[in-house]
Amino acid sequence: MSTQKLPAVCGNAQLLSELQIMRRQNHLPHALLLHGAQGCGKKLIAKWFAALVLCEDAEHAPCGCCKNCRLVAEDAHPDVMTAEHSGKRGGFSVETVREIRREAAVLPNNGDMRVFIFPDADGMSIQAQNALLKSVEEPPAHSCFVFTAGTVGVLLPTLLSRMTAKAVFPVTPGECSEALLKRDYPDADIRAAVARFGGNIGKCIAYLSDESVRQSADDAAALSAALAERNEYELLRLLTAAASDKERLTRTLELLDAQVRDAAVLTLEGDFPRLGCDRSAAETLSAGLTPRRAMRMHGAIQEAFADLDGNVSAVLTVTALCTALCDA
Ligand SMILES: [Zn+2]
Repeated sequence: MSTQKLPAVCGNAQLLSELQIMRRQNHLPHALLLHGAQGCGKKLIAKWFAALVLCEDAEHAPCGCCKNCRLVAEDAHPDVMTAEHSGKRGGFSVETVREIRREAAVLPNNGDMRVFIFPDADGMSIQAQNALLKSVEEPPAHSCFVFTAGTVGVLLPTLLSRMTAKAVFPVTPGECSEALLKRDYPDADIRAAVARFGGNIGKCIAYLSDESVRQSADDAAALSAALAERNEYELLRLLTAAASDKERLTRTLELLDAQVRDAAVLTLEGDFPRLGCDRSAAETLSAGLTPRRAMRMHGAIQEAFADLDGNVSAVLTVTALCTALCDA
């Protein structure tokens, strides 16, 4: 028998406890949206939620020991279905949604409920959302739907109004280090990852296990520092180096965009989770940054993505981007 355990969810204690209380009171939502930054554990919590729904021990759910919990842990539960992505934008095809609707009408195999997970629903088309609307509006008593997305704004208001939306937050840097230590990464590497991505465990793991992610994070940190100094020469040098490989360039620009976003929110009141990879570079960039300039920088980066999608050469794209960023 497999010994795989239910995933240990780090942090987000209040969210987990709220959901456990709902389960004890028999008031679990039939449609749940978990929203938060990429890498903060939404899919892990979706799996934990499936076990919470299906666990045979209502009082201590998810117990992690019963047959249902074990099957969820092994990704082998016949009543848990995860919708598969399709298409360029990572959405769900209308056919996939229809299949899930058909499945949702079928009685559970092992227990009282069936759980349907739509991971990373950010790219879900309006057609696919509309196709799902009826099932979410009037779900069969034995079905529940879980969505994960970056923000609530990606879903249609009609769909959203039928869901319980819950935010998932990154953990503290200390909790993140502890979770990474349990995965046996070396101390020094963990310190470097947490310095880059704070309490975002998913991003830290990507940084620790994927050399290309590490390179892009280092590139994006250097780029945002050059941007803060309006050092056009350095900006072009770094962008041209990243342009040697389109995937590297795309990842780097995504992180640079996140750095611009972090710099923009640092000018606001309130405590927003960081999305980028270098807090101090974002702080330098935020000095004197107006919302209009931040929007222009974001627009320039989005334009570069559009050019790359349209097969404009990477070198031409970064040359135009460099000028646009410096003029922003
Ligand atoms: Zn259980």
